Amino acid sequence: MNILFASSEVAPFAKTGGLGDVGAALPRALATAGHDVRVVLPMYSRVHAAGRTFTEVVPELWLQLGDVKVRTSVYEGALPGTKVPVYFVRCPGLYDRPSLYGSGGDEHLRFAVLNWVALELCQRLRFAPDVIHCNDWQTALIPLLLRARFSWDRLFSGTRTVLTIHNLGHQGTFPASVMPQTGLADSWYLFHQDELRAGRLGFLMTGLLYANAITTVSPTYAREIQTREQGVGLDHVLRQRADVLTGILNGIDEDEWNPATDKHLPANFSAEALAGKEACKRALCESARLPYRREVPVFSLVARLVWQKGIDLVQSVLPNLLRHHRFQLVVLGKGEHKYEEFFRLLQRAFPQKVHYDARFSEPRAHLVEAGSDVFLMPSRYEPCGLNQMYSLRYGTVPVVHKTGGLADTVWQYQPATGRGTGFVFDHFDEAGLSWAIRRALDVWGSGAAEYRARWEALQRAGMQLPLGWKHRVGRYVEVYERARAR
Ligand code: ADP
Repeated sequence: MNILFASSEVAPFAKTGGLGDVGAALPRALATAGHDVRVVLPMYSRVHAAGRTFTEVVPELWLQLGDVKVRTSVYEGALPGTKVPVYFVRCPGLYDRPSLYGSGGDEHLRFAVLNWVALELCQRLRFAPDVIHCNDWQTALIPLLLRARFSWDRLFSGTRTVLTIHNLGHQGTFPASVMPQTGLADSWYLFHQDELRAGRLGFLMTGLLYANAITTVSPTYAREIQTREQGVGLDHVLRQRADVLTGILNGIDEDEWNPATDKHLPANFSAEALAGKEACKRALCESARLPYRREVPVFSLVARLVWQKGIDLVQSVLPNLLRHHRFQLVVLGKGEHKYEEFFRLLQRAFPQKVHYDARFSEPRAHLVEAGSDVFLMPSRYEPCGLNQMYSLRYGTVPVVHKTGGLADTVWQYQPATGRGTGFVFDHFDEAGLSWAIRRALDVWGSGAAEYRARWEALQRAGMQLPLGWKHRVGRYVEVYERARAR
């Protein structure tokens, strides 16, 4: 199949979270499965700031969106280690900013441009996609654009659209007055009329109405988002489209995240040979200036520090637990000021036990995953979550809230049978998280030999799970094929 994959994030070029990982790994897996897949994303300043060079393939492409005339051009590179073409939409006025999102009040325009250029690019290249795979609100206008503005072109006669929801919390909802700058003012009647009457225009909402198929990143999340409680105002649309909505668990990139070959680690390890993990723990403690003790478990947390990730629960339970139990905590993450401040204070209060690093650092994330014993992921909601899967792969036992993809990837550990891969709490409250952390500490025990054997069996159970994209990519191909047959 010819597949155009449109995304606002593609690692390593541009990533703020899991979307960036998926934006690289899924196209890579599709290419390995023999499809002609091409990727399109904006050329943010960080893309070219890294000293990479690209070939110009479209020198000049003008768009008139309402009263705004935008000049763009397109450059081509490749996904590292592959021949998968990556097209970068260059438009310095819109994309040359320090952060990927949210600085300038023109988000609707920035991503409307991406949607338009994705389709015009296909025309310039004479690339006839069987499927355009859109991701989140930033590329969710493509299904409507295709129908309202590009359907005259026979190039697209066989094109179907698939829209993946990576996080329903981000919907790209703007005042209805931005409509001219989407370039779709003539097609105003095709937008959701109740929304327009309420003065809103939602990119994601529009995509959900017109995509030929909708996917989201775990089966549990696919069910949750159809409920009023977790539908973030879009549950009614999702229920209407339930017949084309599928939950497909994300995979992990097993080349990037493989403890046996990971280049960011001081020592490698695997389920069969765990010794290297201890060397990683020592290195992590040293780099965090925490005393290293084999028998003291190191907990970790790597996340965007935002409300979704349940940091407020961590804030409520950790000081007390740190006071009364023997464990250490390493945190890597940036986000809301109040959470960053909390971890700074926690480190000050427990200098021998807590280390906080307020950076976004890919190499550091690998070392933290490898060198810690228990990973905290108490998300309030979690569409899929990748970090708990990286943890499983790295023998770092996850503590998770039973929600979304966390519920689909981590199974409650049962000491009596030895089954399970982590510690799962059902109710999102202090008692729940605190219970799960204490369970982890109990199973870790004194760190003596008999406890250690049990812990290693638990680690191995997680490390041996089939988590790679090669186990998932077939499900996407099924969705593409069903969309084409429709
Ligand atoms: P989300 O997409 O909601 O942020 P995921 O668990 O799906 O959550 O993916 C998060 C991704 O972002 C992982 O690859 C994780 O390692 C990475 N990440 C988050 N914060 C940091 C950080 N401070 N430094 C490095 N990587 C980070």
